[in-house]
Amino acid sequence: STLKDKNALHAAMVMIDNKTMEIMAMIGSVDFFDYGKGQVDATLVKKQVASTMKPFAYALALDNGIFHTSSILPDVYTQFYSKVGNYIPKNFSQSYHGPIRLAKALGCSYNIPAVYVINTVGMVPFYNFIRSIGFDSINRSPSFYGLGIVLGNAEVTLLELANAYTIFPREGIFEHANCIRKIVDRGGKEYVVTSDKGIRVLQPSTCYLINHILSEYKYKVEAFGLHSAIHFPFPFAAKTGTSKDFKDNFVAGYNKNITCAVWVGNLYNETLDNLPAVSGAGIVLKNILLHLWNSGFPFAKFTFPTKEVHEVRICMLSGLPATPFCPQTEYELYAHTVPKGVCTWHSSGKTTVPAEYVRWAAEKHYSVLKDAAVRIIFPKNGATFKIDKTVRKSLQAIPLQAAGTKKEIQWFVDGHFIGKGSEIVWQLQQGNHIICARSDKVAEYVNIVVLE
Ligand SMILES: [Zn+2]
Repeated sequence: STLKDKNALHAAMVMIDNKTMEIMAMIGSVDFFDYGKGQVDATLVKKQVASTMKPFAYALALDNGIFHTSSILPDVYTQFYSKVGNYIPKNFSQSYHGPIRLAKALGCSYNIPAVYVINTVGMVPFYNFIRSIGFDSINRSPSFYGLGIVLGNAEVTLLELANAYTIFPREGIFEHANCIRKIVDRGGKEYVVTSDKGIRVLQPSTCYLINHILSEYKYKVEAFGLHSAIHFPFPFAAKTGTSKDFKDNFVAGYNKNITCAVWVGNLYNETLDNLPAVSGAGIVLKNILLHLWNSGFPFAKFTFPTKEVHEVRICMLSGLPATPFCPQTEYELYAHTVPKGVCTWHSSGKTTVPAEYVRWAAEKHYSVLKDAAVRIIFPKNGATFKIDKTVRKSLQAIPLQAAGTKKEIQWFVDGHFIGKGSEIVWQLQQGNHIICARSDKVAEYVNIVVLE
């Protein structure tokens, strides 16, 4: 079998009935009589669930109205700074995709846009949100996890993951899953176990947008190709997650009737042999679903909330309402917030993108929007860097990048001229520094700290 060849010796699965919140299946291991780890219930083992955490961040951002489904998120080299230090996320594919519409960023599971979203929404609101949907294993302070929490660095159980995903098909109501229907005592008296009432954590229209994004394959095709395991022949929302160094494979998915989460991995804590979740856990989920589908199990569609959700024809690059100049357009769904104005990136025969996409634009031969003044793109104001003593000093350098003007840019550190150009390299020196980019009598300043 292919999965075993990839060192994926163990697997687990949880399936929940979305209507009754009964646990329909909870399979903790492939073979109970396996001498090694067969008697470990892997549905209750805490693990990093990687990208399967992302939909919760996007859902919160859409629900708050901070972003809409075609908000442009940056998938470019970005340094996020916080009290606990700098954070520079990388994509699974190790490449950057420039400006990305929110729906596609989630479908393709790009990391930098996800961190950008939670950085904008706020770490504490996100932390409180995921705590409210049954992730009891997340019990350290928000700063312990940092922004990486959106990329699934916090350890949770497969059961918690499956339970949390039920909020989407249940149109925003969280309730704990239960495994006991009733208790009968010796005398034959029955005690019916009543479930908790459930709490509203999202608006139904927000859930519909997430259901749409995770089930429409068009949002995933760029990252996952045309023939991936999570491309189903029936409506089914799914999100995969592959933890660092191919340790664990997760997939969580649902339709109106059921929610199902699958883990594939190795309880000896060994890494899997280059097995991404879409080919590991994704295949297991697909086989489970095809079995249900073939045995006539109902696969109902999500209910479209016509009053709250509406369509707008947008430009596929800018995410703004399309004009006749936009080469590629499509209909997108919106609930609380809609894009305003029209696409300004396309004009007759020309594409002009905002200054932060300068590097990406160069590859595509697009122009960059000329601001009146020079702007420092990197480093960001307030950034902290650390000199790594184990690495040669000559390699301890950062790029200084500026854009927004076609005129010559001059760089100054603490008032001393150090070079010219839109990008130069600067050797890190311990201390507080003021970095200045000057062009045509206009200057921008950022303040950074270098620790040793
Ligand atoms: Zn356009």
